[in-house]
Amino acid sequence: MRILLVEDEKKVADIIVRGLKAERYAVDVCHDGQSGWEMANAYNYDLIILDLMLPGLTGTEILEKVRRKNSLVPILILTARDGMGDKIKNFETGADDYLTKPFAFAELQVRIKALLRRGPVNRSSVLRVGDLEIDRLSQNVKRAGKKIELTAKEYSLLEYLATQPGRVFSRTMIIEHVWDQSFQGLTNIVDVYVRHLREKLDDSFPVKLLRTVRGVGYSLSDETQT
Ligand code: CA
Repeated sequence: MRILLVEDEKKVADIIVRGLKAERYAVDVCHDGQSGWEMANAYNYDLIILDLMLPGLTGTEILEKVRRKNSLVPILILTARDGMGDKIKNFETGADDYLTKPFAFAELQVRIKALLRRGPVNRSSVLRVGDLEIDRLSQNVKRAGKKIELTAKEYSLLEYLATQPGRVFSRTMIIEHVWDQSFQGLTNIVDVYVRHLREKLDDSFPVKLLRTVRGVGYSLSDETQT
């Protein structure tokens, strides 16, 4: 896993780099915005950690440029600011997570792990898998043009699987993503929801999109795509 860190406070950068290297990540570090953007543009990172207040380009400007390039790399923002307005703006621009300084390295570590496990996120507003269409803004789901009514959890589950068609998601990944972190129930809740979703999504169609991969988890894919 290769991580880019853009942080102008050398002390903070050193602590993070040391911590990440101890975790065996490959880390590149830049101390200004311009070189941060050049590195982000030049290499395929698994994760980018951006400070907001930087000489040259700001973290937000780098974020905008990376997303305009249509890169799906997970981006975590580090900042001394904790204004809600900044957070919302950065999330809208495509940040995946946000950590306010000062923070404990352990917290950064947990967030990095979560982002790396989740991988790149497809942010386009309409997701398509075969004849299935998911509009993420209106949360409307259609199959072969026919509207499918889903509950909120069924929708979240479907949207999550549809972000990466063909990828197999484990029950644990699904729980972590679709249920909140306080969820302590059994992972077989996933099986129950998959069953409900399958009835609505696949039962009346010849091509089944929702697949069970025995012993591993679930995936959503159109056979013609695989
Ligand atoms: Ca700074």
